[in-house]
Amino acid sequence: MANEVIKFRCYYCSQHIRAFREHIGQSIACPSCGSMITVPRESSVQEEEEELVVSRKFTDEELTLIRREGSGAYEAFIGGAVRDYWQFTLVADLLGKRLLPLQATVLDIMRKQEVYERDVVTHTQFVQFINEKSEEFFGLLYLLADRMTNELERVLYQDDLNTIIAFANQLGIILGRLKDFHDSIYQKPLPTVYPYPELQGILKSWAPFCWQNMKNVIEELKHLGVRKQTDSSWKRVQMSFSPPTLHQFYYHKLQLPEAEPDLF
Ligand SMILES: [Zn+2]
Repeated sequence: MANEVIKFRCYYCSQHIRAFREHIGQSIACPSCGSMITVPRESSVQEEEEELVVSRKFTDEELTLIRREGSGAYEAFIGGAVRDYWQFTLVADLLGKRLLPLQATVLDIMRKQEVYERDVVTHTQFVQFINEKSEEFFGLLYLLADRMTNELERVLYQDDLNTIIAFANQLGIILGRLKDFHDSIYQKPLPTVYPYPELQGILKSWAPFCWQNMKNVIEELKHLGVRKQTDSSWKRVQMSFSPPTLHQFYYHKLQLPEAEPDLF
């Protein structure tokens, strides 16, 4: 794989070292004992053990690319260069930026719901609407959970800026679609009888919950970039994006009458 890092041992002091592929064949000073050693072509160490990292050198192209992401990302990128896990710091900063639309959604949950008017929206249409919307909603939550639990790990261990930015953008698109979902639920006039107001309340609760989870993950990634913890420390963060009241949601949804087919 083109972007993996090289993990090996110092020939003199046996320190575990992680170097980027750009260092292959170069003489570098061991970050532990200072002896000059040559970075091998292949990794020779697989086990999880504390490693020291040979500082990353960034190309002009990469610097230009990351400048376009904003000054915060640039600071994180450059700051991360002298630390062990520059990817962790950068991903945290990029995800923080992509998360912002969701903050607006969290602030929005106090907005007054549109009220159902019999002449405008029929009951059947609303049943169809809520069924379709909830399907879309859970699809998006599943995507988000999948990216964060499976993709994030793969992305973090690649020494490739484009991969990391693409990942953050992908997450941003999912979060944007979740925000659209939220808006569409609000803009639809809502019947005032059971179970609609209850359903509405449950659907609302996902946004603060999801926001807090993402914030926790971002904070943990930032800390890892500084604290030199082991690679897998971030996995301790609880990642769950489903609303805490999922059971209630299905209970209420099952009370909805069957939607009748459109006669037109
Ligand atoms: Zn050494």
